[in-house]
Amino acid sequence: MKNKKQPMRRCIGCMQSKPKEQLIRIAWFEGKLSLDPTGKAKGRGVYICRDQACLEKATKRGAFARSLHEDPGRPQIERVAEELAAELGRQTAEGDDHAE
Ligand SMILES: [Zn+2]
Repeated sequence: MKNKKQPMRRCIGCMQSKPKEQLIRIAWFEGKLSLDPTGKAKGRGVYICRDQACLEKATKRGAFARSLHEDPGRPQIERVAEELAAELGRQTAEGDDHAE
């Protein structure tokens, strides 16, 4: 079953629009920033590629503060970066064994 009308979201790192499922949501709720792999967490959400490089870009450009209209602060962003790294590591371990 193919869903032709894929919802698109824009990564706050590379600013490219991609199908939502290729991105990961980061939720901002009551002053707390957290990785939201399910996409169902409460609060305002921003989307980012499943790529550490995009998170770094977003951090450097202050994209979180701009997209959320509030600055989550560096410690929270760093924690989310770690959560994203763990999430990506898990995916790599599960499949896609394409190492050279
Ligand atoms: Zn990106």
